Amino acid sequence: MALIVHKYGGTSMGSTDRIRNVAKRVAKWARAGHQMVVVPSAMSGETNRLLGLAKELSPASSSPELMRELDMIAATGEQVSVGLLAIALQAEGLEAVSYTGWQVPVQTDSSHTKARIESIDDAKVRADLAAGKVVVIAGFQGVDEEQNITTLGRGGSDTSAVAIAAAMKADECLIYTDVDGVYTTDPRIVPEARRLHTISFEEMLEMASLGSKILQIRSVEFAGKYRVPLRVLSSFTPWDIDITEEAKSGTLISFEEDEKMEQAVVSGIAFNRDEAKVTLLGVPDKPGIAFQILGPVAEANIDIDVIIQNVSQDGKTDFSFTVHRNDYARTMELLQNTVGPATNAAKVMGDPRICKVSIVGIGMRSHVGVASKMFRALSEEGINIQMISTSEIKTSVVIDEKYMELAVRALHKAFDLDQEVAA
Ligand code: ADP
Ligand code: ASP
Ligand code: MG
Repeated sequence: MALIVHKYGGTSMGSTDRIRNVAKRVAKWARAGHQMVVVPSAMSGETNRLLGLAKELSPASSSPELMRELDMIAATGEQVSVGLLAIALQAEGLEAVSYTGWQVPVQTDSSHTKARIESIDDAKVRADLAAGKVVVIAGFQGVDEEQNITTLGRGGSDTSAVAIAAAMKADECLIYTDVDGVYTTDPRIVPEARRLHTISFEEMLEMASLGSKILQIRSVEFAGKYRVPLRVLSSFTPWDIDITEEAKSGTLISFEEDEKMEQAVVSGIAFNRDEAKVTLLGVPDKPGIAFQILGPVAEANIDIDVIIQNVSQDGKTDFSFTVHRNDYARTMELLQNTVGPATNAAKVMGDPRICKVSIVGIGMRSHVGVASKMFRALSEEGINIQMISTSEIKTSVVIDEKYMELAVRALHKAFDLDQEVAA
């Protein structure tokens, strides 16, 4: 008998028929003798709908008071899901009980809309499992020290599931979703994308941090820190497929650098449309200038991603960086009103219509010329690169948003990602 955590995303929970299907699948696992904890997301579209209602009432605010209420509202999506799934499980003849995040409790910090899990008390869940119940826990949410409801950021149910699996030392955490695993890139953009049988933890971490929405980055971090066996698989296979086959399907996140693992130089391509670029032209090129620019940005709690500073000409230089698109207006205001005048910048410019496209692969460590191959493929499509950022296992470029799909397709082809790698 094993302790298994299943996570079902919004599309998998998208209708009562689908919820019934989820319940049948979970029942199959329970009847095979496993202890089951299930973490569902809100029904598809529900979180957007709920947050949209809030926005109608207060389009511009991002005050702490508003953020608290956003969490109060958004958390109800998952509350409905757990109740419905528990009912569907009971209808299958199983004993099942649902809990919200605060009932468990899943303790988080107080950063509303992007809270971090600090601890999980599993006593109640263990008692229910011991009593033979399936336990259904709301994803995406927790509670802070002052009993405020918090949420973990978009896509946060992945993190709930992996954190619960880690806290309970589950034998495996299975992330059921609307694709049958992790692909070389988003199959919605490149139909030729290929499913990976395994992906190394480091590559998955990079893919998630570079914008691949298949897993929330914090879920991958948790899996790495606590060595949670993690698999991404389809919730759309017939619920009654053979359980051993199902347990081997999808994509395994692997913690070992196996010799036999698919050893492509580049394993995947990620992209991110959520960033915006800002530039200060003609700032003095002197010690401390980067700090003078980025210090106030950090103080305003704005995260910075790619940064470039040009070579200086006549003692002046240009400085560009990217921020999350949601922070674009705030960043521009800060640069125009405060940082620009303080640094004597000649001009402040901004462009919210950019995207970041990245190639990822642990094989890049031992191969040269990978980045130049990337740049050639982009130049052959006439795509201008605005910024470049590299690390050991990834190269990212910032380009005009309108070329994103073209760039991803061209790179997918250039690195032969549609070809099966010989094991
Ligand atoms: P869920 O609601 O189950 O959490 P998400 O929409 O968050 O599902 O994540 C699944 C989606 O992630 C897929 O439908 C796919 O479009 C997208 N995706 C992005 N990158 C990848 C990738 N490399 N492999 C597979 N799917 C990807
Ligand atoms: N329902 C939340 C969202 O839409 C959490 C999740 O789906 O993982 O972001
Ligand atoms: Mg998701």
